[in-house]
Amino acid sequence: MSSSSPGIEPAGTVDVPRADGRKRVLLAKPRGYCAGVDRAVIAVEKALELYGPPVYVRKEIVHNRHVVETLRERGAIFVDETTEVPEGALVVFSAHGVSPMVHAEAAERNLKTIDATCPLVTKVHKEVNRFAKDDYDILLIGHEGHEEVEGTAGEAPEHVQLVDTAEDVDKVTVRDPSKVIWLSQTTLSVDETMERVDQLRDRFPGLADPPSDDICYATTNRQVAVKAMAAECDLVIVVGSQNSSNSKRLVEVALKAGARASHLVDFSHEVDEAWLEGVTTVGVTSGASVPEVLVMDLLAWLDKHGYSDVDEVTTANEKIAFALPPEIRRAEKAK
Ligand code: SF4
Repeated sequence: MSSSSPGIEPAGTVDVPRADGRKRVLLAKPRGYCAGVDRAVIAVEKALELYGPPVYVRKEIVHNRHVVETLRERGAIFVDETTEVPEGALVVFSAHGVSPMVHAEAAERNLKTIDATCPLVTKVHKEVNRFAKDDYDILLIGHEGHEEVEGTAGEAPEHVQLVDTAEDVDKVTVRDPSKVIWLSQTTLSVDETMERVDQLRDRFPGLADPPSDDICYATTNRQVAVKAMAAECDLVIVVGSQNSSNSKRLVEVALKAGARASHLVDFSHEVDEAWLEGVTTVGVTSGASVPEVLVMDLLAWLDKHGYSDVDEVTTANEKIAFALPPEIRRAEKAK
C-alpha cells in the first residue's frame, strides 16, 4: 500500500505527548467525514432542496445513525430496494455503490436517479470491469453481505470470488493461476488485507496486485492516526455506527496497536462510566461517516468526567474534495 495520496500532506514525524499522570484525551487527526461521505450527504440535502421531499434513498446513504435520522427528518425515505420506490420517483444511490442490475431495475421503473457512489468505489468497479474484460479471475477481499461488495462484485459476478475470512482462501478455485488478480473493498483493515493477500499469494504465486490501492485514503489515514496514539491509551473510544466497516476496523486497529480497551459508540450517552475506571488517557477518533458534532459531544462528556486536556495527534492533513454528482450539478445550473 502506498503511504501517501494526492491531496494529502503527511504530517511528518508524529509527536505523541507522553502521559504525565493527568487525565487527558488524545484526539486522532484525521478523523470523521471523508470526501465521499461529505459528497453523498450533500447530494441528498441538495436533492431535498431542489426537488422537495420525499427523496428516496436506496440503503443508508452512509453508515451513520445520526446522519440517516437527520435526513429522514428532512424528508428522505430510506428503502432497501428500488422496487419499493414509486414508479417515476427520484432515488439516490448511496456512497457504497450499486451493481449494474440495480441501475437496470431503476431504468425499468422509470426512476430518476442520482448516483452518490463515492468516486473511489467507482474506481474499483472500473477495475473489476477492466480485468473481467481481460478474462482474469478476480479475488475480491471484503466482507460478505456488505453493500459495497455486493455492488462491486455485481459488475462481473462470473469473474469475481469474494474472499472474506482466512478459510475462504482455501476455497478459491481459479481457471488459470497466471491470470488472477486481487482487488478489495475500500474500508478494510490495511494490515489484515495484506495478510489475506499473502495467504492468497502462497496459493497463487502469480497473483497480480491492483493498479492502485483499493483501500481508500480516508480508511488508511484514520487507521494510521489511531495506530500512532493507541499504545499511549488506556481506552480508545471510536465514534461510529455498528454497520460502519471502517469504524469497526478502527476499534480492531486500536486494540492491535496497544490500546488497553476500545469501544465503538454512536453517541456520547452510550459511553459506560465503568470504562473509565483506572483510565488516565482516553483516545478518541471517529469513522469516515461520522459528523464532527458527535465527536464534540463526546469531548464535552469526557470534560464533565474530568478529561479536560485534549491533545490532537495529527498524522496527515487531508485536502481532498469531490465534485457533486453530475445530476445535481446539472439541476443547479438549470435553476
Ligand atoms: S470511506 Fe473512502 S471509499 Fe468510502 S466514501 Fe469515504 S472516501 Fe469513499
